[in-house]
Formats: sequence, structure tokens, C-alpha cells
Amino acid sequence: MTIINTPRDLPQLDEFLELEDLQGVQARYGRAPLVEASRVCIEDLRQRLLNGSAPATLDSLMSSVTDYVKKTQSPKLKRVLNATGTILHTNLGRAPLATAAVDAVCEIASSYSNLEYDLNLGKRGYRTSNIEEKMQEIFGVEAAVVVNNNAAAVLLTLAALARGKEVIVSRGELVEIGGSFRVPEVMSESGARLVEVGTTNKTHLHDYRKAINEESGALLKVHRSNFLIEGFTSEVSIGDLHALAEESGLPLIYDLGSGSFADSLTGVLPEEPTIKKALDDGADLILFSGDKLFGGPQAGFIIGRADLISKIKHHPLLRPLRIDKMTLAALEATLLLYADPDKARKDIPLLQMTLIDLNELKERSSRLLNKLQAHGINAVLDESDAVLGGGSSPGVKLNSCNVVVTPACGQSAQSLDARLHQADPPVISRIVRDRLHFDLRTIKSEEDSELSAILISILQKDQI
Ligand SMILES: *Cc1c(COP(=O)(O)O)cnc(C)c1O
Repeated sequence: MTIINTPRDLPQLDEFLELEDLQGVQARYGRAPLVEASRVCIEDLRQRLLNGSAPATLDSLMSSVTDYVKKTQSPKLKRVLNATGTILHTNLGRAPLATAAVDAVCEIASSYSNLEYDLNLGKRGYRTSNIEEKMQEIFGVEAAVVVNNNAAAVLLTLAALARGKEVIVSRGELVEIGGSFRVPEVMSESGARLVEVGTTNKTHLHDYRKAINEESGALLKVHRSNFLIEGFTSEVSIGDLHALAEESGLPLIYDLGSGSFADSLTGVLPEEPTIKKALDDGADLILFSGDKLFGGPQAGFIIGRADLISKIKHHPLLRPLRIDKMTLAALEATLLLYADPDKARKDIPLLQMTLIDLNELKERSSRLLNKLQAHGINAVLDESDAVLGGGSSPGVKLNSCNVVVTPACGQSAQSLDARLHQADPPVISRIVRDRLHFDLRTIKSEEDSELSAILISILQKDQI
């Protein structure tokens, strides 16, 4: 072992870079990051030796260089273990994709594709024509178009159908979602003029009727995805608005947001408006996200009347808001899974996690609990609720099961939580009254052992 006692023992950069043990790092991350890391670490060690710190070894220098390269060269966007039980967590990337969707992304992203080439005609094709046909079939609508996200869908729809005109919305539905999507602001960017009707808690059909005049361009209903108004309230249903829309000749646009489509979800989320019901009740256009209850990639769907969709498709904003080929691949693969409801609930992670069997969850939680307890960690099982989150189904609680850890003396849940965030992969938990809650509903079963290993390594140290 080569000992480095004084700055004079430090290796020359050129020689250091040629050391056998560093060749793997260079092959994996490239020469430039290795050179940079070596410079920094050698200089750092020089300073420490000058300050009289203990001698180092060549091995320890190499391992600090390797760590430095790994730290600076690994992506900052990384997989995390979501143990919050919140299935649609906007901060944690909303819906994870189905395996079929991931495979489709890999295939399309890594090669050429017929993205805008019609193989039958042998000439230029239209990027989203295949998926739009599939959407028409699956949702049972006249026409469909897909854009980058639901906020874009709202912007484009209003710009195409109501620029320079008035759009009538209930005051109780002027919501902010995800911190940056505010209905009034998106509306003003679209060039449509907002006409607020009713009050925060109550809006009646006659409020809408009174607001209609020759300047009117559309009726807009917005699903209050992320909060509840309780008590003395009333809102006007799509069914009632439909009659008014017909009578006045105005299009009825419904920003549904979450886009619940699977029949299997209606049982567990009875309050959540569904795409099917909105269509049956007579919405002319329905707008929703691809990565909320639909369980696919980030996207915004616009489905409904062909004449309205045709205007939307010819609007110049469609091009800047279009989806890329990777999204398109993931979306088509996810849509195909919906052809068979059983396959959808088995293969789409969002549906799987929402509909998970509670006994199975309890079993997995018990296994985790036993492992933690065997390592002297103070943990219990607690049956509490998981929330759907991410701008859908406010107030909906799913029965769940948590492993709850009480920090050892002198430790706080906050400090343990901060360390869990630095793990590889980071673990995101929920803190309730200074205890850490871990919900396996949002952990894949094949990730269970990885999670328990991380929890043991971090929580156990602090018990000693
Ligand atoms: C989530 C949501 C949006 C924004 O959708 P993104 O896909 O995040 O852009 C808009 N409207 C409603 C009602 C929503 O719930």
C-alpha cells in the first residue's frame, strides 16, 4: 500500500490517470470527468496534508476520485422509492408507466420509426393519426387530438374555439392546480375573455343563462380536482349545461383533469367523474391528463365533437404543443392495454396500485415490519389511509396499511427523513406526529427487499 505522508508523496496527475484501478471509471464516465476529479481530489489532499491532517493512501485517493466522478456524473433526475402511499404524486412524477409502454419507448427512441411516414401510401404522414384513431375507438368518440399536457389542451382548445370571445365559468371552478395551472391565467393567455358566474360555493343554471350574449364563445366546466367544497354548495352538472349549450349553440367544454376511464376504478373512486359519464351527459369536448388516473405518460387529451376538434387541429398552436415520439410510443402502448379491462388493471401500475388487494398489502407490510424489528428498530403496523393525490379525487381515502417507525431517543423523524432522501435510491416517506410512515401500496413488490435494506441501514444505525 502506497502511503502519502506529505505533499511531496502526491502522485503526478499523468501517472495517476494511468493507474489500473481507474481505467474502469474512465471507460464508464469518460476521460474529462476523471481528469477533473483527479485534479480536485489531489489538490484537496495537498491542502489537507499542508494543514497537518493524517496521511492518506493511494487507494483512498483513488476511491475519493471515483466517488467524486460518480457524484458529478450521475443524473440528478433519479428513481425514488415512493413510500408515501400517494399514488399520483405530482412531485414524484405522477403515474409510473406500464412495462409495455416502457418497452415501446425504448424501441422507438433508439431507432428510426414511421413517426410521420405513411407506410401504405409511401409518403409523408400525420404524426398522431394512428393514435387518434385508436382514441376514437377506445373512448367511443367522433374525434380526438393529443398534445403535451392537459394545461396545453385547455390553452389550445380555448384559443381555437373562443379567442376574442367570452367563456363562461363558475366562480367555484376557477382553480389552481399543481401550483402553476390557474384557470383564469391560462384563459387570458388563450385570448378568451373570462366571464365568472355564480359564487364560490353556489352556481345555478340561470347564472350561466344570464351570462350568455352575442359575445359568448363557449361554456367551460372545470373539475375541482384537488380540493373539496363542502356544506352549502351547488354546482351545475354537465347534463344540465348540455341542454343550455344546445339551446344557445355554444360548445360545452369540460376540463376533467384526472381522466378516470377504467370501469374498475369507479368502485373505489365513486366521487370521481369519469370520461364515459361526461360523454354520456353531453359534454362536447372533454380534456384530461395522460398521467393522472389514465395511468400513462404526460399528455393532454382532447376528445369529442369532430367539427370542434377539426378547428383545434388547424390552430397554429397545435405545432408548439405537440407530443414527442417517446410520449407517443408510451401513450399508444397504454391505450392498447385498455382494450381489455383485466389486462389494464393488471398491467397499468396506477390501476394496480389503486386496486391492490388489502390482504396482500398487509402481508408485505408484516414482512417488512418483521425485518425491521429483527434489527431492533421500533416499528408497528398501522392501518391508515392512502390518498390518491396529484390533483385527483380530493377526500378519497383508500384503506391502506403503514409500517410506522418511532425514532430512537435523541433522533427526530425529520433528521431520519433527510437521510432517507440521501439513500440510493432515495426513499420518500410521510411524517405524522414525529413518526415515519411507510406505505407499500406505492412500492412495487419487487422493490420490497431494496426498501427494507435501505431502511435497516439508515434507521438501525440510529438505534445504537
Ligand atoms: C391536472 C389538471 C390540469 C393540468 O393538467 P396537466 O396535465 O398537469 O397539465 C388542468 N385541469 C384540471 C382540472 C386538472 O386536474
